[in-house]
Amino acid sequence: MMRQLDGNNLKIAIQRKGRLAQSSQRFLRSLGLEFEYSDGRLFSNCSNLPIDLLFLRDDDIPEYVQDGVADLGIAGLNILREQQARVVRLESLGFGACRLCIAVPNHGPLKCLDDLSGKRIATSYPSTLKGFLQEKGLRADIIKIRGSVEIAPSLDVADAICDLVSTGSTLRQNDLKAIGTLIESQAVLMGNPDSFKDAVKATLIDRLRIRVQGTLKARSTKYVMMNAPRSAMESIRETLPGMRSPTVMPLADQDMMAIHAAVPEETFWDVIEKLKGSGAQDILVLPVEKMVL
Ligand code: ATP
Ligand code: ZN
Repeated sequence: MMRQLDGNNLKIAIQRKGRLAQSSQRFLRSLGLEFEYSDGRLFSNCSNLPIDLLFLRDDDIPEYVQDGVADLGIAGLNILREQQARVVRLESLGFGACRLCIAVPNHGPLKCLDDLSGKRIATSYPSTLKGFLQEKGLRADIIKIRGSVEIAPSLDVADAICDLVSTGSTLRQNDLKAIGTLIESQAVLMGNPDSFKDAVKATLIDRLRIRVQGTLKARSTKYVMMNAPRSAMESIRETLPGMRSPTVMPLADQDMMAIHAAVPEETFWDVIEKLKGSGAQDILVLPVEKMVL
């Protein structure tokens, strides 16, 4: 049975269909929100928290959050920058990664950004592009196009394009190459500043933010377990960042110890190599599900 939107519930807007839709839902579920979704649905009530989800076009999300129709929203940083909506950017979520790039035909006369002076650039991001060109001191014509920007050069509608790129396969298919990046984008959680003035909503938003940070931190951390001779303990302790300090437990073999520690992803291989060098054996690495410090 579909219930109605509840005026008191916290409202979170996410993309209904498209590149961010599934990952946004997965992300909210990882925060402990339970909800149903079926194609074509415009909203859903969470069954375990006073939260309603709104399923919208991604371009509409910043404005809905700005106007208070939704308290929180998830959209690409690219959209947020383009629209300059009055919302608070709360967290970067680590999915939906892409770059807003300027690209030119592979074998044409344009080779670098300076060659763009006096040329036509097709884009769905006119405002971001305008700012970028101004910053670089370049004068070019901005041709505003809504979809399929990448075909503009072959139709001779434009000399270059400014569009989102993730793997670059669309550019390659259209015989284009990137020559500059305007934004490194990913999905972000945004909020309406007024929602924090409502004490009940503010408390719930804070709870969610703690969960978001716990989920993101866990994703970039590995839990490492190993055995090592007692004599290696000193140098192993120096290598391990740990959360506070590593957990050390005796083994049946009196000369050996078991050591457990959380290791950040960025330094992971360095740390593992050093541990092995110090005499650590039987190294076991596990993903971390959540991390609340
Ligand atoms: P909607 O119908 O909701 O308006 P859309 O067609 O505008 O959808 P999508 O193509 O689903 O949007 O892209 C949504 C977001 O996904 C983009 O704004 C961007 O932040 C992110 N994204 C990640 N990789 C890419 C990519 N290769 N091309 C386009 N967007 C990407
Ligand atoms: Zn869109």
